Amino acid sequence: MQNSLENIKTSIENLKAEINRHNALYYGKDAPEISDAQYDKLVRTLREMEEQYPQFLTSDSPTQRVGTSPATALGIVDHPVPMLSLADVGNNEELQTWFNRVDKLLNGQKCQWVCEHKIDGLAVALTYIDGKLAIAATRGDGERGENITQNVRTIRSIPLTLNIKSPSRFEVRGEIYLPKSGFEKVNEERAAEGLPLFANPRNAAAGSVRQLDSRITAKRPLDMYAYTLGYAEGIAFPENHWEILDLFQSLGFRVNPNNRLVENIDEVEAFYRHWVEHRESLPFEADGIVAKINSLYLQTQLGSIGREPRWAIAYKFPPIEGTTLLTEIKISVGRTGTLNPVAVLIPVSIGGVTISSAAMHNQDDIRRKDIREGDTVVIRRAGDVIPEVVSPVLSKRTESEKEFSLLEKLFDKEKGRPACPSCGSEVFHGEGEVMYYCTNAACPAQLQEHLQHFASRAAMDIRGLGESLAAALLKAGLVKDVADLYALKTEEVANMERMGEKSAAKLIDQIEKSKSRPLARIIFAIGIRHIGEEMAERLVKRFNSIDELSEASYDTLTGVSTIGPKIAESIVAFFKLEQNRQLIGRLKIAGVQFTQAVPFKSEGLPLGGMEFVITGKLQFFSREETEEKIKALGGSAKSDVTKKTNYLVVGEDPGSKVARAQALGIKQLNEGELLKMMGLNKLQ
Ligand code: NAD
Repeated sequence: MQNSLENIKTSIENLKAEINRHNALYYGKDAPEISDAQYDKLVRTLREMEEQYPQFLTSDSPTQRVGTSPATALGIVDHPVPMLSLADVGNNEELQTWFNRVDKLLNGQKCQWVCEHKIDGLAVALTYIDGKLAIAATRGDGERGENITQNVRTIRSIPLTLNIKSPSRFEVRGEIYLPKSGFEKVNEERAAEGLPLFANPRNAAAGSVRQLDSRITAKRPLDMYAYTLGYAEGIAFPENHWEILDLFQSLGFRVNPNNRLVENIDEVEAFYRHWVEHRESLPFEADGIVAKINSLYLQTQLGSIGREPRWAIAYKFPPIEGTTLLTEIKISVGRTGTLNPVAVLIPVSIGGVTISSAAMHNQDDIRRKDIREGDTVVIRRAGDVIPEVVSPVLSKRTESEKEFSLLEKLFDKEKGRPACPSCGSEVFHGEGEVMYYCTNAACPAQLQEHLQHFASRAAMDIRGLGESLAAALLKAGLVKDVADLYALKTEEVANMERMGEKSAAKLIDQIEKSKSRPLARIIFAIGIRHIGEEMAERLVKRFNSIDELSEASYDTLTGVSTIGPKIAESIVAFFKLEQNRQLIGRLKIAGVQFTQAVPFKSEGLPLGGMEFVITGKLQFFSREETEEKIKALGGSAKSDVTKKTNYLVVGEDPGSKVARAQALGIKQLNEGELLKMMGLNKLQ
């Protein structure tokens, strides 16, 4: 029983990690790897598991949160009123069930509905002070978004100054989107420049607005429809949503002319049916409709549950399908070295978007669906993101189709073995895993991802080296692998576009500082498959240097109780590869510390064996520094309060962890008490 509960917990944790990865790709990078339908399925499974096993529901679960943390490059904006997501339904039965619940809560009070399109763009919050646009922000994680004011100022349909007497301070929310024609134009231009195409208008709009250079935003034909009031000061709130839309229009905002005020849920269904039929005629992409209760009084009465208001529902359009010929299955190298089959298609227009390739996931999936090269296949553009191959059209089989074998595709005749199509290195396939990987950390297709990962906060923490700088360094040919970072010269960096003496010197200083990061971070940074932050921490409890780790055999590794066969296999494969050994050699020569300054012996250390969780803002050291110190003194630092937690360290403005700790009877410390335990109380 205990064991099966443990398995369920692990499945939930894995699912959460997978969903968080897709959130980061979708919201953070505007480059999803899977379709919305597949994503929604993962979330639905997680929701169901959490409902069944509420003991494993945590406040940081993606089912409880909106979007993903905002990226800091553009600056962060706190939302005075959270920006929520929307609950959704996919058919009339689900709509009725949802409505019956609302009706019950309303105790028979009648309500009107405003029906709108669910526009496929990105939500924006525009703050106006004394009639002037002051701040524009993305939704981010709902509480904090990115500051996109400069970029939004370039969108012509967003008024910079309001045309009649407006509230003294108010926030209007709406959707920034690229009309279909604009989306095609942007992708044509990108194709001409050899840049990767945007998967859909939503990603194109988000990618255009979340730019560091507002000149790029200005070139994109972006538009906005206003649809919600965040808050208003110096004005009596209108009584209903329909009046708010009127107010927006009189203030000079664009409001979707297709919005309708309807009397009951049957009319919501009729609005939906109409647009399922006519969605193609819309000049923008919509993935459904949104029905909102008109009365603001009833909206307030219903409130919200978790990340969703109870007074609104997204009613999603069915996915769009089409058929075409699959000419070939190619292998592309994913960002993390995964070798992904991709279907090459005879271009076909589905729902107004031309599709010439589609995701195939993995070999097992292809076999299960029996998809062959030369098949006519059904393609689905679910949720308007990356299309997927659904199934072969068996009636069109001619028997000249060819079954797909990943290993055959990867087979390099000269080398006499399967090889990475990008760099020719050996291919790794863990037992029981579906994916195959390129084992070469210096593989060019993976390099950009490696650089970013290497420099990230939890790894070498090279501040300033984010996505755009990593891409620029690679493009300028200054960096060919992570070791090259340590040979960079200030003058070289200063000569790059959008860099100057000062920012270059800062970067070089950060790179220098990274040389002495703790061993666990370095192990995490070099990107051994399956080695996350926590596993790296476990490894340094047993191995005191990278040399010790690289020499450990499979048996030695699996002999350590916290290391499983999958991890052991991955470590051995990593160090077996000559390129990886060379890379580490060069990092060593550059001065990167690969040995623990103090060999790890947790017994006898002041915090040996104790588990800490931190909440709120700390005064003396940053959270990262404090966690580092806890670990150095033998303790461990975790992000969630569980029964295993020994102490909750409470800083300024603590979060919900305090209540959880109280419920579990866990001892709380202030920062001073923690410093005392660490023997650092003289600092106070
Ligand atoms: P959502 O898109 O389902 O709904 C909320 C959003 O709807 C708002 O933030 C707003 O931007 C938008 N919206 C458009 N028109 C609106 C209107 N008239 N009124 C109010 N809001 C309107 O919410 P979400 O939580 O951001 O995203 C979930 C969606 O994103 C799902 O469809 C999911 O499949 C997709 N997603 C996909 C991936 C992936 O990897 N493919 C990852 C994450 C999310």
